[in-house]
Amino acid sequence: MTWRLQSLNTETSAIVIGGSIAGLFAGLMLSRAGWQVDIFESAARLDGRGAGIVTHKALLDALRKLDIAAGDNLGLMIETRKVFDREGLEIATAHMPQLVTSWGRLHRLLKAEFPSHRYHGSHTLVDIDQDESGVTAFFDNGQQARSSLLIGADGIRSTVRQLFEPSSNPEYAGYVAWRGLIDESELSPSELETVFPYFTFCLPPGEQVLAYPVMADDDSGFKAQRRCNAVWYRPADPERQLPDLLTDIDGVNNGSSIAPDRVRPSVIASMREDSRQLLAPQHGALIRRIAQPFIQPIYDVNCASMVYGRVAMLGDAAFTARPHLGMGVTKAAEDAEALLRCLSEGDPVVDGLINFKSTRQSVNASIVERSRQLGAYLQANLDSGPERDLAANHTTAEAVLAETATDNFSV
Ligand SMILES: Cc1cc2nc3c(=O)[nH]c(=O)nc-3n(C[C@H](O)[C@H](O)[C@H](O)COP(=O)(O)OP(=O)(O)OC[C@H]3O[C@@H](n4cnc5c(N)ncnc54)[C@H](O)[C@@H]3O)c2cc1C
Repeated sequence: MTWRLQSLNTETSAIVIGGSIAGLFAGLMLSRAGWQVDIFESAARLDGRGAGIVTHKALLDALRKLDIAAGDNLGLMIETRKVFDREGLEIATAHMPQLVTSWGRLHRLLKAEFPSHRYHGSHTLVDIDQDESGVTAFFDNGQQARSSLLIGADGIRSTVRQLFEPSSNPEYAGYVAWRGLIDESELSPSELETVFPYFTFCLPPGEQVLAYPVMADDDSGFKAQRRCNAVWYRPADPERQLPDLLTDIDGVNNGSSIAPDRVRPSVIASMREDSRQLLAPQHGALIRRIAQPFIQPIYDVNCASMVYGRVAMLGDAAFTARPHLGMGVTKAAEDAEALLRCLSEGDPVVDGLINFKSTRQSVNASIVERSRQLGAYLQANLDSGPERDLAANHTTAEAVLAETATDNFSV
């Protein structure tokens, strides 16, 4: 299937809320099919998220169908995965070739393809109104837009979801990810040889560290532009530890997230100290070298319905999965592809969206559930008994190698 075909549908205008990965996939696919699409993004500029993204075959296929190069231009190929123990000895290894990229690079490639005059920054959706003939979006700057379809691609704290499902809040998983990037030029010759080229893990009890190389967010692609992406999953109970981590340098806690430059130095120092006790020396050294580590609490989101009349939700707005399958971006691309397919069958928009919901709702719920299972052992508040026994199945080095961010999962 190519996305350059004209859609058969006569209602062919769409508003997309959110100009990140899911919004750009949906916007690009629909506009290539002849739809008039406007993307509205609340941020004035979206860049510098500095996070690694593992790819899957479905993501690369979607990019190829959009004529976006999915090879060297996108990222780096990793051949081998390794697990280190506390002493730094290699205790498991697997040959598992995989392309890894970064959020920034993927976003830039997608955004470059979307008509810039139809990408509107500094527009925050505040309300939606729909009737038989269309849907209207209202923005915080007083502007409004109307179209035959509205796509909510506004992420984990989706306003679109809140408007239709006011009680559906992200559910805290009981652990956080410390994340950051280290320039390749800062690594020692030994790190460059034994850690950097691989997808590596260390598994302290109830915790997990992983690291892999990514390209920097600019286009140069030279060796010196590569970075090491490191993530450390750590339990943090919701009553005491999480509020402490999220309390910023001014003593303010907004309850759900914290900007990287607002994390208190004492919290960073304590995390770095723990790394000396808990991690393989290779990973400890990497973690301590991240200049500005950032904290992301991990959440599960399951929307009750991906569709409300002329409104569809996709990507993290509809379902946010814990990161262990590395499926967030791939599932966003698959949502967008399914949406286009369902809207290209000639039915009225509302009927196309009903088909979209039956195609994606349960698949996404399965992805969230599988990701929850893989991460359960990291939870501060894991129930004892059967849940704990089940979680233990995913803690061995062999299980982590085979299950983390691979295509070995089907729904
Ligand atoms: C530790 C960690 C590791 C991860 N690793 C991977 C990985 O390896 N592979 C992978 O595929 N995924 C990974 N993910 C998940 C991935 O990052 C997300 O699934 C993906 O970025 C979601 O994209 P999105 O476009 O749906 O949402 P977002 O990227 O959150 O975008 C939502 C956009 O909507 C905008 N917005 C919000 N509200 C409004 C509003 N009211 N009006 C207008 N605009 C609005 C926001 O500004 C934002 O730009 C990881 C996540 C974490 C936490």
